[in-house]
Amino acid sequence: MAIKRILVYPEDCLKQVAKPVKVFDDGLNDLVQDLLDTMYDAPGVGLAAPQIGVSLRVAVTDVDWRNEDGIKNHQVWINPEFLWKSDETEITEEGCLSLPEIYGDVERPSAVRLRWYDLEGKKHEQDFEGFQAVALQHEFDHLDGKVFIDYFTPLKRRMITKKLKKKYLS
Ligand SMILES: [Zn+2]
Repeated sequence: MAIKRILVYPEDCLKQVAKPVKVFDDGLNDLVQDLLDTMYDAPGVGLAAPQIGVSLRVAVTDVDWRNEDGIKNHQVWINPEFLWKSDETEITEEGCLSLPEIYGDVERPSAVRLRWYDLEGKKHEQDFEGFQAVALQHEFDHLDGKVFIDYFTPLKRRMITKKLKKKYLS
């Protein structure tokens, strides 16, 4: 399919709550292919549809591929929903393709139970922990119009937003 432009925060689509997928058709297949092409090209380990300007609850991840010498093992997440999050948390340094060169520590639950749908519309449920749990929470925040700097202080967030606007959106 195609490599799309990745939106930079605070572009609008990144701040909107995305709509659930209702039809599992060729259009959805094309969107997932675009997400994968764009993620691998970036390169990144996860990408959500709002990051390419599509306000739908779809994301892709491939959390190991950079360490694995090009062996790709992507996963597709449609209408994902956390059924449970652990009280136990962990702090991870996060970055995001939509916030180039910005990194920072974010505290999140260290284990989650997730329900999602695949491209065929089949429902799945599974528990995740560690890096995968953190990566999924980061990606699915995008579906709710949130980015990782939303966990920072308002002052720090304003400074980063100003910097990104000046560098990428002016
Ligand atoms: Zn992100």
